[in-house]
Amino acid sequence: MGPNRLLCSARSVVCLLVLFLAQPVLAQGDLEQMRRLNPRMPPPLELDAKRIEAQGITAVTGEHLTLYSDLRDEARCRDLVAAFDAAVPQWGSFFGIPGGQLRPWHLVGFLVQDRERFKAAGLWPEDLPEFPAGYNLGHHFWIFPQEGNYYTRHLLLHEGTHAFMQWYLGGSGPPWYSEGMAEWLALHRWSEGSLELKARIADRNQVDYWGRPKLIRKALEAGRRMRLDELFDFPNSAFRNVESYAWAWAGCEFLARHPLSAKSFAQLPKFAEDSSAAFSRDLKRKLKADWDRLELDWQQFVEELDYGILADRLAIRPVEETAQAAEGTFRLATAWGWQDSGIEVAAGEEKQIEARGRYMIRTGDPPWPCEAGGITIEYYRGRPLGELLVAVLPEDPKFNEVLVPLPIGTSRRLTFERAGRLLFRINESPVWLEDNTGELEIRVR
Ligand SMILES: [Zn+2]
Repeated sequence: MGPNRLLCSARSVVCLLVLFLAQPVLAQGDLEQMRRLNPRMPPPLELDAKRIEAQGITAVTGEHLTLYSDLRDEARCRDLVAAFDAAVPQWGSFFGIPGGQLRPWHLVGFLVQDRERFKAAGLWPEDLPEFPAGYNLGHHFWIFPQEGNYYTRHLLLHEGTHAFMQWYLGGSGPPWYSEGMAEWLALHRWSEGSLELKARIADRNQVDYWGRPKLIRKALEAGRRMRLDELFDFPNSAFRNVESYAWAWAGCEFLARHPLSAKSFAQLPKFAEDSSAAFSRDLKRKLKADWDRLELDWQQFVEELDYGILADRLAIRPVEETAQAAEGTFRLATAWGWQDSGIEVAAGEEKQIEARGRYMIRTGDPPWPCEAGGITIEYYRGRPLGELLVAVLPEDPKFNEVLVPLPIGTSRRLTFERAGRLLFRINESPVWLEDNTGELEIRVR
């Protein structure tokens, strides 16, 4: 059954049953255009108005989505449809799809409280696989209401991202990329009709029940640390476990913003048709020269992963040199994570480290001035906030290696057990580094 029949049926359902619908259903020309967007899509379901009505299922229609639900909560469905409509131009601009091509795109989605009703209404194909939360196929997606309004909307946008990629890119890559992108783009802010996809959200109360950073933390506590390229091998079946979504999201968040991988990551939609292992192998090949560094930074990233984290804040970067660099003196920018001083130590070597200067660890009113000793009214990872830390970057770091920070404060004499280069940073969550201003002057003898 072709798409014309689907939308004709949809139109009669809408007109006969759902009086609160205001939006007209798509015009004939648009239907044909939608079919042309991706002729390989399976045909849509045939909608039978009588059967749908008999099950108490109603619909809300927007520009890009008609949402059927047995929830009998029109306001909630309207809100979801409005968020979906707001997402379409953002998906379009992210994936570089011209606006004219977006216009005819219209999905028919199902928000399902009781799947038996949808089966009886002919809205649940017999070959639909089991899924815990949501599933997208061709013209449709099915989602179960989740705890909290945020998380249900997140799931809708997650399935919408899958659908958009399938329609416009011809695929969504291997499982880690497909699920990671859906999670990464669906993380959103929605307020008074305004939507921000791929939002940076540092307050977990704004994303109720999403919980991905917590899942990573629990995985680390249980000893499930993951190399970056281990994500690439996740099979589809791994996504029966919600923890896999957390890893895939973290992987995309990391690769998208890390300065060494951002450019290659941004090219990936071009290859989204390829769901084979070659997709990730090619990415890794492009990043070959920097791969070990990426793996090392990835471990620091997951170690401190929290809401609002940005991978570029944590990427190891060189310190700013000063005129006296040769004498072991340099400046440390307090708004960034680990910085490589270039100073080498041998195993067992002793160094005296001193820090001078004052910086602002919080801007705002009032700002918080801080010195290398840190502030003892607030702690991060068990040490005073803002305290100067040192770590050794081993010459040959092991995969899964996490840097071990050692507190310095304003002055300390230290014997280093392991050979490598000295890295410095201040003790603060990477989420809050960027508002810092000022530098510390550090001297190593
Ligand atoms: Zn998904």
